Amino acid sequence: MKQKILLVAVVIGCTIFSACTTTVQHPKYVFLFIGDGMGLAHVTLTEDYIAAKNGIHGNGNVSFTQFPVTGLVTTYSANTLVTCSSAAATALSTGHKTNNNMMGIAPDSVTHFASVTYPLYHAGYKIGVATSVSIDHATPGAFYATSLSRSNYYDIASQAAATGFDFFAGSGFVYPKGKNNDQASIYEQLETAGYRIVRGTEGAAQLDGGDGKIVLVQAESEKERRRLPYAIDRKEGDLTLPQITQAAIKALYNPKGFFAMIEGGQIDWAAHANDGATMIHETIDFSEAIKIAVDFYHQHPGETLILVTADHETGGLSLGRDGKYAVNPLAFDEQQHSLEYESNDSTIAAVQEINSNAFCAWPTKGHTGIMVPIYAIGAGSERFSGKLDNTDIPKRIAELMGVEFSGLK
Ligand SMILES: [Zn+2]
Repeated sequence: MKQKILLVAVVIGCTIFSACTTTVQHPKYVFLFIGDGMGLAHVTLTEDYIAAKNGIHGNGNVSFTQFPVTGLVTTYSANTLVTCSSAAATALSTGHKTNNNMMGIAPDSVTHFASVTYPLYHAGYKIGVATSVSIDHATPGAFYATSLSRSNYYDIASQAAATGFDFFAGSGFVYPKGKNNDQASIYEQLETAGYRIVRGTEGAAQLDGGDGKIVLVQAESEKERRRLPYAIDRKEGDLTLPQITQAAIKALYNPKGFFAMIEGGQIDWAAHANDGATMIHETIDFSEAIKIAVDFYHQHPGETLILVTADHETGGLSLGRDGKYAVNPLAFDEQQHSLEYESNDSTIAAVQEINSNAFCAWPTKGHTGIMVPIYAIGAGSERFSGKLDNTDIPKRIAELMGVEFSGLK
C-alpha cells in the first residue's frame, strides 16, 4: 500500500513538474532576451528597489528571476577577457568568438560567421530582431549582419533588406542615408525588398498579425533614431520595448514557429554613465517586455522557450561601498530624469551623490569580465543550467529547434 501511494505521488509530481520527464521538449517559439550590460548586481539592485518601493526590506521580483532554470555565462572575447557588445553578440548569434569591435567576422578578418537566425529562417521559422536602441547597433546587428567594425552603421543596416527576416524593430537606423547623407536610403531598400515601415506607438498598435514583413521604428529625428527615450525620461506616446515585444509576437506568430532576439540596449548605456536610477528603470522596462513573452509562454507552455541573459556586465556595480554594510535603493528616487537628459557639472555631481547615498559604487565606466546570469523557462530550458560559455547559447538553441548549425557561412 505504501508503495502504491508513493507511485501515485510520483505520477502526480511528474504531471505537475515537467522536470520529471527525461526527453527534452523542442520549442517552436523561442525568445532570446539580452539585457545589454545587465550583471547580477544590476538585477539585484533593481529587485531591492522594487521591494523598497513596496515597503519591504529584502528583495522583490522582476519578471524573470524566478524562472526555474538559471545558469552562469562566461563572456570573454577572442582578444580580451573584457568583451564589447559586438564580440559578445557575435558569440551569442554565431557560436564563435571574435575580437572586440568586430561583428560576425573572425579575428583573421577573412572568415565570415553566420548567425543562427539564418539556418532557422531557412528551416521556415519566422525571425525577429528587436532592440531599444538602433537596429544597426552591435547586439541586434550581429543577428543579421557581418562587419569588420561595429561602427560601420550604414554597412550593417544595408544588410537587413536582403535577409528576408520577418520583423525588425528599434529606434531606427543611425545613418539611414549613410554618414554623409549621400547613399541609398535604408528605408527605401527595405521597402523595395517588401518590408512595411511602421512608425511609433500608433503604428505598433495597428499591427494585427497579417501585415507581412515589418520594420517598426520610433518617429524619426536625429537623436531619436539612435535610441528610444530612457524609461525614466519617457513621455506619453514614446515607443517602448514592451510595445515592441507585443508587436514582435503579432508579426511572428505562426504555426511553424519563430525566433525573436529582443535587446534591452540601454541598461548598458545607463551603466556606462554610472547612472543608477536610469539603469534601474531600464531594467524594470526590460522586465516588463519579458512579462509579455511570459504571457505568451502561458498560452503555449509546451512549445515556448524564453531565455534571458546579458552580453556582459557594465560598470562593475557594487551594492555596498566604502566599508558600509548597507544599500539604500530609495536614494535613487531623488532622481527624476536620466543624467543624459540634462548633463552638466551639477547633475553629474548630483548623480554621484545619489550613488553614494544608495551605498552603490561603480569602479569603471566600461565593461567588466565577470560572468553574467542566464534565466530560462519552457521547452528545452534545462539545457541552459550550470556554467555555460556565451558560444554555447546559439548552438543549444539550434539543436533544440532542430536545425544544423555550424555558425559558418
Ligand atoms: Zn557597453
